Amino acid sequence: MPYVITEACINVKDKSCVDVCPVDCIYEGGDQLYIHPDECIDCGACEPECPVTAIFPEEDVPVQLKSFVEKNRVAFTSDNPPGRPTR
Ligand code: SF4
Repeated sequence: MPYVITEACINVKDKSCVDVCPVDCIYEGGDQLYIHPDECIDCGACEPECPVTAIFPEEDVPVQLKSFVEKNRVAFTSDNPPGRPTR
């Protein structure tokens, strides 16, 4: 069950999460950061680092944000997938 980045990241992209992810599975899209669902090892290190509380374990995503589970997944199969975060 991967972690998921939700709405609060949009246009924030703080990237504190990127620094703590042990497997570098957090990528940057045009609007927000995304966690690769097949690469995330479910360690939980990123969740407390997010200053806007955008990150949740998939099973704990609030109901009004459930669409972000699918958004994180399909982002990586799009024509313009998220890439390595820039600083
Ligand atoms: Fe990376 Fe761990 Fe967060 Fe998954 S839960 S995105 S592996 S820091």
